[in-house]
Amino acid sequence: MPKPTICPECRAQRRLSWRNERKFYVGKSDLSGDRIVSIFSPDKPYKVYSSEEWWSDRYNPTDHGQDYDFNRPFFEQFDELLKSTPHMALIGANNENCNYCHLLANCKHCYMIVESSNNENCLYGYWLQKCLGCVDTSFSHDSKYCYEVDNCYNCYNLKWSTDCTNSSDSYFLKDCISCKNCFGCTNLHQKEYYILNKPNSKKEYDVFMQKIDFGSYKDIQKWLTETNKFISSEPRKFAHILNSEDCTGDYIVNSRNCEECYHAHDAESCKYGEHVWRGSRYNMDVSTVGREADWIYECINTGISSNNVQFSVQNWTCSDMQYCYGCHNSNHNFGCVGLKHNQYCILNKQYDKDSYKELMKKITDQMKKDGEYGEFFPASISLFGYNETVANEQSPLNKNDANKLKFKWSDFEAPLPKVEKTITVEKLPDKNKDIPDDVLNWAIECEVTNKPFRLTKEELKFYHNHNIPIPRKHPDERHMDRMKLRNSNKLYSRNCDKCGADIQSTYSPDRSEKIFCEKCYLNEMN
Ligand SMILES: [Zn+2]
Repeated sequence: MPKPTICPECRAQRRLSWRNERKFYVGKSDLSGDRIVSIFSPDKPYKVYSSEEWWSDRYNPTDHGQDYDFNRPFFEQFDELLKSTPHMALIGANNENCNYCHLLANCKHCYMIVESSNNENCLYGYWLQKCLGCVDTSFSHDSKYCYEVDNCYNCYNLKWSTDCTNSSDSYFLKDCISCKNCFGCTNLHQKEYYILNKPNSKKEYDVFMQKIDFGSYKDIQKWLTETNKFISSEPRKFAHILNSEDCTGDYIVNSRNCEECYHAHDAESCKYGEHVWRGSRYNMDVSTVGREADWIYECINTGISSNNVQFSVQNWTCSDMQYCYGCHNSNHNFGCVGLKHNQYCILNKQYDKDSYKELMKKITDQMKKDGEYGEFFPASISLFGYNETVANEQSPLNKNDANKLKFKWSDFEAPLPKVEKTITVEKLPDKNKDIPDDVLNWAIECEVTNKPFRLTKEELKFYHNHNIPIPRKHPDERHMDRMKLRNSNKLYSRNCDKCGADIQSTYSPDRSEKIFCEKCYLNEMN
C-alpha cells in the first residue's frame, strides 16, 4: 500500500464528502416512476431506484459493465459507472416495515432512523444498535424505552439523559453508572433515590417526583435548565472512555488498542476511526465500520461481515474488494458499483478468476504510475454536494471555499412541503393530557425554523404512554440539539483542572467545564 499523501483530518474530510446521511428529497424511481424519498436530489445525473426495486431481480448490475481503457484515468471511468449503474434511494437491507429510514439493517417497525442496526419500534434516531422502543435517541446501544438520550448503553426508561450505562427509570442524568430512580444527577455510581446528587429516602423521592408534572412542556423546560445548571458545575472526565485499554479519542467503550478513534464500541487495534463498533478490528482511516469488519482501510460504511476492503464506500458483507461503491454480498471485485452476489468483476464487467487477477494487476500498476492507487475516491466525483454530506457537518465550508478545495456543491432547493392545516407551538396545550388525537391532522410549525412537521400515531401513543410533552421542534432540530451535546472529533493537549496532569481531551482548554484526569475523576465519583 502506498503511504497516505494527506493528513488524517483531510483524509476524513475527503471520505465524508461521499456520505449523505440526512439530506432527503422527494423524487421518482428511474425504474418504475413511483414516488420515492431519496438521498439524491432530482437534478442529479444518477439512476435511483427504491430499495425494494434495487434488491429485486428486475435488472442486473453487470449489464452496465465497461471495458477498462488504459488511455484514461481510472477515476474518470469509475465516474461513468457511477452514473450508469442504479443506486438505492435510501440504503437499507433486511428491514421490515421501516419507513423513511436510511443506512439501516435488520430493523423492524422503525421510523426516521439513520445509521442503525437490529432495532425495533424506534422513532427518530441516529446510531442505534439493538434498541427497543426508543424515541429521539442517538448513539445508544442495548437500550429500551428511552427518550431524548445520547450515548447510553444498556439503559431502560431514561429520559433527557446522556453518557449513562446500566441505568434505569431516571431523568436528567449525565455520566452515571448503574443508577436507578435518580433525578438531575451526574458522576454517580450505583445509587438510588438521588436528587441533584443528594441522597433521599424512597418516600422523600416519591414525594418530590409527584410534585413534577412530566406531561407539562413548561415544567420540563424549567427542569432541563435547572438540572443542566447543576450538572455543568460538576467536574467532567477528560474523555468518555469506559472499560477500555490503551485507547485515545472519545466515546470509547469495551475496546482496546485504538488510537484517535471517535465512537468506538467492541473495537480492537483501529486507528483514525470514526464509528468503529461491534467487532471492528485492524481498521485504519475508516468512518462507520463494524458488525464484524476486519482489515478495512480508507473506507466509509463497510461491515456486516466484511474483510479486506480498501478505498471503498458502503459495501456490506463484502470481502477482498478495492474501489467499490454500494456493493452487497460480493467478493473479489475491483472498481465496481452496486453489485449483488458477484465476484471477479472490474468496472462491473464479469471475468474469470485468472483474467480478473491479471487485469487487476495491470490496472493497479497503471494507477500507481498515475498517482491514483492508494488514494480514496476524489471529492470531485462524489455523488453529493459537500453541503449535503457529513463532511460539512464536521468541517463546515461555504460554497466558495468548498469549490476552491475541489468539493462539489449542491444548489438544489427542495420546495417546502405543502400542508393544509398548520398550528404554531403557542397554540398547543401545555400539558400532554390536553393534546387531542386531532393533533395528528395538523402540521406543527417548528419553534426554531418554522418548518412544518407532523406527529405519527405511534409517536403520539409513546408521548401519551410516558406522559411527556409533544415536541415543539422539527425532528432535524431535535437531532442537531442532541449533536450539540457531544464533543467533536478533535483531541487537545491540556491539563487536569485538579492535579495539573497532562491529558488529551476533546474538551478544548478554553471550555468552561472542570475537566479531570482519570485518577482525579474516579476520586470525585460517588
Ligand atoms: Zn488529575
